[in-house]
Amino acid sequence: MSVHLVGAGPGDPDLLTVRAARLLAEADVVVHDALVGDGVLALVNSTAELIDVGKRPGRGVPQELISALLVSLAGRDQTIVRLKGGDPFVFGRGGEEAVALLDAGVPFEVVPGVTSAFAAPAAAGVPVTHRGVSAAVTVVTGHRRHGEPDVDWRSLARVGGTIVVLMGVTQRGQIAAELIAGGLAGDTPVAAVRSATTIEQVTMRCRLDELGAAALESPAVIVIGPVAAFELGGEVPTKRAAVSAIRRDFTG
Ligand code: SAH
Repeated sequence: MSVHLVGAGPGDPDLLTVRAARLLAEADVVVHDALVGDGVLALVNSTAELIDVGKRPGRGVPQELISALLVSLAGRDQTIVRLKGGDPFVFGRGGEEAVALLDAGVPFEVVPGVTSAFAAPAAAGVPVTHRGVSAAVTVVTGHRRHGEPDVDWRSLARVGGTIVVLMGVTQRGQIAAELIAGGLAGDTPVAAVRSATTIEQVTMRCRLDELGAAALESPAVIVIGPVAAFELGGEVPTKRAAVSAIRRDFTG
């Protein structure tokens, strides 16, 4: 197996899968995204080559080039890790890379990761489903791409349950307006979690009709629905120093 499409989880290195951590220790080359944080990259063995193909505003490697890079690296007979934030197949364009590898006859495996779609709400104490409150959860992109069908927000408003929006910060006002037009109440609770499971984690809570005007920066996961009012456990400090300080407090 030469190429591994690996999920890096939401940020905290402790939320990597054991398999992902093992592959980072064994890799010869790691091709990673911008969303993969330093804490995770610190687990890559020191002899591995790190290639940053992160897409950031105004700069970035086109998807076709990333796929071509993976195919050419595969020819090296080394352990190639393609490391993607969260889960590689949840809005990570991992599917496109898998298709390119398949077309080129390159063997690969997919290592699932903890997706921010569920980890970010959990980190803020929001259960995405809850008995008697929400029996469904829809994960949806808020990003609009030319040539692709728009999400039918008004229909989504009638599905019920919880709506989890990724990449929705820029369009949040429009999304809220469409959901309200589709029948959701203006006072539907919203929780938006930014940089979840990192030391920068912040949760913003508001009503759906306040979402457009609320201050919010990327990367954030926006949770819409009655469960967004929950705060079970609250913020968990993930900085190692903070965690060990807490452990010290508990153990005396
Ligand atoms: N494959 C990734 C999602 C990639 S799309 C996954 O499964 O998590 C990128 C979007 O993911 C961001 O715009 C944001 O909405 C969300 N995201 C990823 N990591 C996040 C984090 N630590 N905190 C909040 N949102 C995050």
